[in-house]
Amino acid sequence: MIWSYEQRFKGADSAHFVQHFRRADFLLTLIAERHARGLDEPDFLHGAAMAGRSQLANATKQLQEAGAIDLDTFATREDVPSRYFKQTLGGLGQYYVGTLAELSLLNTEKRDWVRYTATLGLPLAQAVEEIVPSDHFWKVVASGRVLAKDLNALAAFCPCGLRAGTQEYTLLEELFFGEGTHYATAEGGRQRRLSLALLLHLAESLSTIDDATFGVMAFRGAIYSGHLPDGQQWQVPDTLQATRECWHVYQSNELMSVALLSLFASTLDLLAERQKDGEIAFPTIEALASHVATGAFGDVLEAACKTPSFGDYLDRLAKAAPSVGDWTHEAHEHQLGNHLVGGAREGRENEELVVHAFRVIALLAIRIDESRSAYDGILFAQDDLQRYPINLESFRARLATWRKASVREVLQDITHWCLATHLSVALRKLRETGRSTFRFRLGERGIEIVDVTPLPTRTTPRFNQSTQVLIDMGALRPQGAERHGDVVVTDIGRSWMARHGQ
Ligand SMILES: [Zn+2]
Repeated sequence: MIWSYEQRFKGADSAHFVQHFRRADFLLTLIAERHARGLDEPDFLHGAAMAGRSQLANATKQLQEAGAIDLDTFATREDVPSRYFKQTLGGLGQYYVGTLAELSLLNTEKRDWVRYTATLGLPLAQAVEEIVPSDHFWKVVASGRVLAKDLNALAAFCPCGLRAGTQEYTLLEELFFGEGTHYATAEGGRQRRLSLALLLHLAESLSTIDDATFGVMAFRGAIYSGHLPDGQQWQVPDTLQATRECWHVYQSNELMSVALLSLFASTLDLLAERQKDGEIAFPTIEALASHVATGAFGDVLEAACKTPSFGDYLDRLAKAAPSVGDWTHEAHEHQLGNHLVGGAREGRENEELVVHAFRVIALLAIRIDESRSAYDGILFAQDDLQRYPINLESFRARLATWRKASVREVLQDITHWCLATHLSVALRKLRETGRSTFRFRLGERGIEIVDVTPLPTRTTPRFNQSTQVLIDMGALRPQGAERHGDVVVTDIGRSWMARHGQ
């Protein structure tokens, strides 16, 4: 769009660019919606990810009543209810510009507006120009008025128009699979290619199992355990083993993070309750951590562990816990972790949540392979582990001490670790951004809650986005009306699996 605009509006200023960009951005959303409705197909095949979809009902009404859509009603930058997007450059400005610059497609160094790069952006822009009626598109944008027949005539702009065999497709294939002269040497591109191949393999393996759905939960379970939902081993080809192991590290990190966030949340809840009841505040985080371990949380936990010794608890767990591959078992860490996040906490007592979180931590402790470094093969910046002090490396270091400690001492140490880390990370954020993210503070009367308890959340493995890439590129074909339901691997997908990881 940026290149195509430049060809037609030479010498325009940035105000003109922004106005036309916003009209064009919303016009693309209208085209995709019209296309999906005309074919009576689900949105995820057409415009589900377009910017400003919340205005579609309004725009459709305008088209029916006035016979045309006035683009500026929606493209306006004024703060009115009909505005399609707040960000100046719409979805591009909000979500994509950083990634596209990182991929060397866009150049954000010039301040007036975003430019494409000559090396990679230009060829892709010219490839798109070959398959879409750009003159008609810009005529509509310049007039600011859209008729139904324009939307029909511009259907080639719908995202579904990506076709194998075109130059556009070839360039995108090189981009996503890290091929071609520019991308082939980049480690990030190599890992992306292998991860996409791994996803195709998982889709293929799940399609052979009754009732198995190709969704993010199956993805998390399989990458963590190396087993499919029916318990059988996931036969990952040798070339993708290392990639699966990196994802295992990701998911182990995730389970540790969720368990610790959960203990942190339960501790803050306890603090908030005491504050509400007007009880005496804890003078220090040490006193709070000690209370957690010796009070009701510690009592319930010790009873649930059936032993005061953490080492004994780990030994018992090693014998009694479901095997790592049995991840649909309710006592498996994959399932226990599901109880600890977001709305799943509702209706559960904090005592129960503490027991579950603690069990996840203990299960991680018995599954950990101490013979290899915790983040083997993961792309990290040098100081990442220092900036995020609670990580699998530091977790393992503490584990050695925990093995000789009591269950209550371990609970106390973890609680203190979370509280102290929160203070230091919030202090750093305050220094770097000027924004306070403290959930509690040390006041004159001791520790006081200053914000609502944050619900533990997961990070996203970008499963949905990657799946959408594979669907858009024709490597996966959804079987139903849902984006993330049953899928089949197509001939294109099979040829990629053969090339990138068989
Ligand atoms: Zn379409």
